[in-house]
Amino acid sequence: MSRSDAPTERDEGEESDDGSRSAAGGAGSAAPDPHADDAIVEVRDLRTYYDDDGFLGDDPVKAVDGVSFDIRRGETLGLVGESGCGKTTLGRTVLGLEEATGGEVVSEGRDVASLSGRELREWQRDAQMVFQDPEASLNDRMTVGEIVREPLDAHDWGTPGERRDRVFELLDLVGLIEEHYYRYPHQFSGGQRQRVGIARALALEPEFLVLDEPVSALDVSVQARVINLLEDLQDELGLTYLFIAHDLSVVRHIADRVAVMYLGDVVELGETEAVYADPAHPYTRSLLSAIPGSHTGTDRDRVTLRGTPPSPRDPPEGCRFATRCPAKIRPDEFAHLSGTAWERLDALHTVFRERTNAETGIAERLKRRLGLAVAADDIDEVVADLFGWHPGGGSTAEGLGPDEPLLSGEARAAVESAVNAARRGDDAEATAILTDAFGSVCDERRPEEHRVGDDGRTSACVRHDSGYESPGTVMARRYGRGDD
Ligand code: SF4
Repeated sequence: MSRSDAPTERDEGEESDDGSRSAAGGAGSAAPDPHADDAIVEVRDLRTYYDDDGFLGDDPVKAVDGVSFDIRRGETLGLVGESGCGKTTLGRTVLGLEEATGGEVVSEGRDVASLSGRELREWQRDAQMVFQDPEASLNDRMTVGEIVREPLDAHDWGTPGERRDRVFELLDLVGLIEEHYYRYPHQFSGGQRQRVGIARALALEPEFLVLDEPVSALDVSVQARVINLLEDLQDELGLTYLFIAHDLSVVRHIADRVAVMYLGDVVELGETEAVYADPAHPYTRSLLSAIPGSHTGTDRDRVTLRGTPPSPRDPPEGCRFATRCPAKIRPDEFAHLSGTAWERLDALHTVFRERTNAETGIAERLKRRLGLAVAADDIDEVVADLFGWHPGGGSTAEGLGPDEPLLSGEARAAVESAVNAARRGDDAEATAILTDAFGSVCDERRPEEHRVGDDGRTSACVRHDSGYESPGTVMARRYGRGDD
């Protein structure tokens, strides 16, 4: 591709295909939710870090890192994302089961994190959790009756006779029968055990339930029955759900709105059908492309993301998705590079970054801290494979000789310089050199939420700023027509 016909990153005046510009109202605009008054729970800049006091002063794990959203009364809000993205920690922190490092969870004017005494007991009564693994979450030495009655006993609910009657009522509510009261969890199937867990969660008549992967341990046919039960209970009891799942099809079925989480942050939130039909954020587009038959708009191909998410101990400083994003913004001075060259540069950048952050052995970590060189491993081979030439040497790949290198001039010199730093064992310096040379606005700035549609839909991507092509346009060019 010649420089003249290369796609430019800042197409001034181009309208984005998701209407984000007008909705966002320009760069950095806030995203007011028109349903804010309906909120049963308001999450504001919530952070949950785990500091394990690791040897050599490890950074804390930032499991949840600055998340804000509302949960509307009576809705099911689905929370999706890859394993390890912080979904469960977020759900537990919302309930006060994990201590928040910062931010707020507000319900009816109370900040959950600051509750104590009577107010805390009230919150624990109003908000309950159903756990993923019904086998592990039920005490096998207690009968089902005792398990369901336990929260009633803990909250000194009614008289002993009333508690017993309440348990029978709850068993009936979840489709179990009276004689199940006297049985033990191991005598039940997975679906029945999850019904016991739901009955227990409902014992104190909560308004709000966090359902943490409630059907993922069940067979598909049993999943459908438990989902139907949850929907019936919601209608009958007016419940609000935060439904955590990695199965996007299940979430599409049950959730009114969906929040998409990546590396401790919510990157997109909106009405489920709108998000599934036309995802606004590059991560959502990638995630949803994995559902058979789900390809959206002009995207034809499944989007295969490079590598794995970075460690939550050291997330990227700018956009959390920047190390894997197929729509990452290129700096203007390298807009002439081909899509392949850019992608490989980005991959090399990620390799250096991951080497810097790798959980290496103690001896190697000590060496690094003492500034001693460590083996550069096979970095020369990596560069040869990526670009077709050996650092400091000639070409290696057919058709990619010195006259037609994949990288030349300034770009090649920067890679050579980074490789030299890596050879000295200084992967941090190698990373910094590539960041300086090829760093994008996506590496520098954590994107604000932009309103990208009606009903408070938001997406956190710099491409929603005016002046950039929208994520949909870029992804369609790359995965729809394949000409990038
Ligand atoms: S801000 Fe940049 S890296 Fe992040 S999702 Fe948007 S385009 Fe991708």
